[in-house]
Amino acid sequence: MPTAAPTSSAADLAALVEFRHLLHAHPELSGHERETAARVVAFLAPLRPDSVITGLGGHGVVATFDSGVAGPTLLFRSELDALPIVEHDVEGHASTVHGVSHKCGHDGHTTMLCGLAQRLAAQRPVRGKVHLLFQPAEETGKGAAAVLADPRFDDIRPDLAVAIHNMPGFAKGALVIKPGAITAAVRSIVLRFTGRTAHASEPEKGENPSLAVADLLHGCASISVNDVESPDFCLITPVHVRIGSVAYGVSAGDGEVHLTIRTFANEGLAALQQRIVHLAGSLAERDGLRLEVEVVEDFFANVNDPSVAAVVLDAAQRCGFDVVTPDLALRGGEDFGLFSERFPCCMVLLGAGEDTHPIHNPHYDFADDLLDIGVRLFDTIVRSTTSD
Ligand SMILES: [Zn+2]
Ligand SMILES: [Zn+2]
Repeated sequence: MPTAAPTSSAADLAALVEFRHLLHAHPELSGHERETAARVVAFLAPLRPDSVITGLGGHGVVATFDSGVAGPTLLFRSELDALPIVEHDVEGHASTVHGVSHKCGHDGHTTMLCGLAQRLAAQRPVRGKVHLLFQPAEETGKGAAAVLADPRFDDIRPDLAVAIHNMPGFAKGALVIKPGAITAAVRSIVLRFTGRTAHASEPEKGENPSLAVADLLHGCASISVNDVESPDFCLITPVHVRIGSVAYGVSAGDGEVHLTIRTFANEGLAALQQRIVHLAGSLAERDGLRLEVEVVEDFFANVNDPSVAAVVLDAAQRCGFDVVTPDLALRGGEDFGLFSERFPCCMVLLGAGEDTHPIHNPHYDFADDLLDIGVRLFDTIVRSTTSD
């Protein structure tokens, strides 16, 4: 029976911290992770994975360590992309790209997978194979879909897939493991009203969308149930609104409302969107406007497979890590959810501390002392599922 994986050697850990800082200093936005992917490939090269696929679904990379013996196919996934956020107060390895920074910790998650690669290089799995997927474009919700649509992913088909995300707000080092939904289904939608401009002195000669926009916002506020404990939880957040332009002689002839909408079940999201579109449609009809609806970003809920969650829980317990089992899912979205639609998956959260800056905050930085926890967890999962 395999036991818990040990702590990485000081030399391996130092290499990981240095690599995380390198990634942090050179962040790239979603869909543009060319250099980050190249750095990952360069880090992995001396570890001699059995195969490396690059350019997967954009700049994605898959490195595979194969025992050559029949057995389970495991996949561990991290993300390559950073965010369009101006960084504040990170010392020593600050972003060198103004306006772009690693504010979600994807530099840390990627480094954890590189740490697993160090372990797999030292000791290949006894049977089966392990794929390390470095996924592009998570923040826009496009990368998982692009990877899954790449024909080269067809041969991978994992029996078990795991992703980790650090999470400020939970005790540092605690693993948050929950069967069922762990993150929400999230969709970004735009509702566009088109009417007709008129002279501002004669608004009755045009169709001004301002009341439709206002009534739509009021309507959304009354539909929205921002209570995670309620079975009716469905959150609608207005993120951007525009009508007409700054031209004081003109009564606006068009307007748009940008929303993010969230539920804990994928099915509920479609129903929520339908309610909003129905409301917007009736307002458009009332005011003589044309309505267009666009879906911009789409995140499936991460629904953890109970058997994979049990494997992760067992590994966490063997390692002696603190485990938190929340009753409720988080309201955020994460595009690993699309993998959980197709394969038995578990997304595990790793507490980054209760008093640290939240992700997507300009002051946030991934905590290096979490690296070894992720690596040990992954390594223990590999040994427990691939040993005889
Ligand atoms: Zn993020
Ligand atoms: Zn993230």
